[in-house]
Amino acid sequence: MSDTKPEHFTETGLSADLQAVVGELGFTKMTPVQAASIPLLLQGKDLIGQSKTGSGKTAAFTLPLLQKINLESRRIQALILCPTRELSEQVAREIRKLGRKHGGLQVLLTTGGQPSKPQSLALEKGVHIVVGTPGRVLDHIQRGRMDLSRIFMLVLDEADRMLDMGFEEEMEVIMDEAPGTRQTVFFSATFPPFIKNLSRKYQDNPVKVTIEESADGKTAIRQFAIDADTEEKTAALFRVLKIHRPKSALVFCNHKATVDALNEALAKHDISSAVLHGDLEQRDRDRVMAMFRNGSVRILVATDVAARGLDITALDLVVNFDLPHQPEIYVHRIGRTGRAGEAGLAVSLVNASERARLNDFASFPGVQVESGREEIPVPRASEKMALHAPAEMRTLVISGGRKDKLRPGDILGALTGDAGLTAQSVGKIEVHDKFTYVAVAFEMAAGALKSLQAGKIKGRRFAVKFVK
Ligand code: ADP
Ligand code: MG
Repeated sequence: MSDTKPEHFTETGLSADLQAVVGELGFTKMTPVQAASIPLLLQGKDLIGQSKTGSGKTAAFTLPLLQKINLESRRIQALILCPTRELSEQVAREIRKLGRKHGGLQVLLTTGGQPSKPQSLALEKGVHIVVGTPGRVLDHIQRGRMDLSRIFMLVLDEADRMLDMGFEEEMEVIMDEAPGTRQTVFFSATFPPFIKNLSRKYQDNPVKVTIEESADGKTAIRQFAIDADTEEKTAALFRVLKIHRPKSALVFCNHKATVDALNEALAKHDISSAVLHGDLEQRDRDRVMAMFRNGSVRILVATDVAARGLDITALDLVVNFDLPHQPEIYVHRIGRTGRAGEAGLAVSLVNASERARLNDFASFPGVQVESGREEIPVPRASEKMALHAPAEMRTLVISGGRKDKLRPGDILGALTGDAGLTAQSVGKIEVHDKFTYVAVAFEMAAGALKSLQAGKIKGRRFAVKFVK
């Protein structure tokens, strides 16, 4: 192997099918963590990797995994552990996407808070890859439903967060279950002693892959702070939204009460928004996140706890409506803006005491607030604040899903066929087990709803309505 790192997927030894898929998905170049990891994983090495959110870690382990998987055998060949249900779902979705040319590939998503019966049935029939949270995975193992004796790859994704969520015991017991010959891959943002021990205990000569934020040591996230007294903050936020016109933005508050009040204020101004609360039911969380991901909700207002497990990385803007109390949390929050390679924007609205606190954060790695404050004057109370920012998309929910053998193509077909939409006006299609969310351009949505209600999908009639 030469010393120069490959840049393109064609230089990695990935199969023609996988190269075609990444091409279709519009991945033109590998991200740095992919360039560093894919060749090593193809060679069978154990790996311990660190790179920022949104840098493409999922594909980094999924592509080598798919290259090596044997579709003929219906034994579990790979296990991916993730800290939360949302993260597990995202990984499963990415695997299915990248595995679209692997006919018959069975990926099982198994997490708590979901009925375990269907998961057990799927395990009985046999699956190739399991993605899930440690608690539920261990439960299946202990009930003798999940056999890891044939896995060749075990991935701990966001290992440090699994630890934060109290999964250390489950992680160890699961690692003990897997055969010693497997390839073991850890991804983690930080390496606390527990993770180092796990690595020593369960990895064999692991190669460490650390991707710096960028070559000059600067973060790719532009960070600004705007001085605003507490009661001026809402107005300041409107200004920020007006100037930056983000397609999607995440606004963090320190308290739930602020989240609610702010969401009401946004609604009053016709700004498309939703809240993510710690005490939302899982179903409502899923709905809010699907709508945020597909562009039906532009502004998500959240607390840190509620945003845990939210791994949305294509954000144009993150706003700290309140400054957090720890620099770690500040860095974690702002890390959600910016996509692979693209600069993100983080704006903090700070009152006098928060300004002082932010100054104290300055020496912490990853905190680089630009000194020239962004010129966004806080508007006077008298100033009109009209700011219409409806969402670009609207979400329809269809009463059928994977269980009804519905695929994204069927929905797209119905919308572009009978309903007469162009493919451009159809957004994300998320097929769940029993229902499907589809995003449609806002102005076409009413017509799409009518014709889906009147027509059939795959020869069958389904209930269709708007998600509110
Ligand atoms: P991480 O796990 O590092 O936070 P993800 O694996 O979730 O990041 O990837 C973030 C996004 O980047 C996903 O939407 C993924 O499809 C996309 N992505 C991954 N690799 C590439 C690439 N080489 N080029 C463009 N986009 C990519
Ligand atoms: Mg990830």
